[in-house]
Amino acid sequence: MSTEQVTLEARNPFELRVNLGNGVPEADVRSALASGDMGFLHSFTTGSTVDGPGVRVVAWTAGCMWRCRYCHNPDTWTMTNGIPVSVSKAIDELRKYRRGLQVMSGGLTISGGEPLMQHRFVEKIFAAAHEMGIHTALDSNGYFGDRVSDAALNNVSLVLLDLKTADPERHRSLTGMDNAPTHAFARRLAARRLPIWVRYVLVPGLTDDPEDVAKTAAFAGELGNVERVDVLPFHQMGKYKWERLGLEYTLANTSPPTNELVEQTCALFRNVGLKAY
Ligand code: SF4
Repeated sequence: MSTEQVTLEARNPFELRVNLGNGVPEADVRSALASGDMGFLHSFTTGSTVDGPGVRVVAWTAGCMWRCRYCHNPDTWTMTNGIPVSVSKAIDELRKYRRGLQVMSGGLTISGGEPLMQHRFVEKIFAAAHEMGIHTALDSNGYFGDRVSDAALNNVSLVLLDLKTADPERHRSLTGMDNAPTHAFARRLAARRLPIWVRYVLVPGLTDDPEDVAKTAAFAGELGNVERVDVLPFHQMGKYKWERLGLEYTLANTSPPTNELVEQTCALFRNVGLKAY
């Protein structure tokens, strides 16, 4: 499949997408990752108002190294499930929205999956966006933050950082991975005074323990660069994906949190002086 044949059509991120990049030879995948000249996108959308300030263009990359039990897009875990897109094509597409994004005080958000699985591709797009005067937001779990150079961070206006839990053991059981690299990235962003918006997915019975939330809040509160916390209520929109992909889904009987639980969780973040919504 040629990357130049791809049309970047805005799509719903909750659409199941598999094997879109299977036609790309393995060697091309490796060289694309090394150069950043090609990336794999799960979805692309315009007009988002929930992925950073203003009205935004959002690109969701394919590929994630975590296996969160409550992931609502498990089809983003595999890079070759994404559409192969050349960096020049992605930048040309973004250029079309430049004026509109500026008028609507918005910008570009790159989300995932985990964008830093394809950090060179992401860095190139952010560099172009920054040069066009477009606000840039990186939505990341932070695990590969050490892959991003200081120079590349200069092109990032905001990081939407997914914090799952401050407890290392619990983090491993929720995601399969350690939280130390995420915390190191958060501290590095704090030292650079690069703003963070924390995203915290609230799953009843899994991430709603008040003591545990309070520890996560304490970590976020001490950073000094967290501008807001978004408590995101768990939902079942990704359930069918787990089933269709033949993955074991342990949350089939879990209900979304009540408004009261969301409010109590927000209050724990507010207790350390953060704005939480
Ligand atoms: S970090 Fe995000 S994309 Fe990756 S498994 Fe967790 S929820 Fe899914």
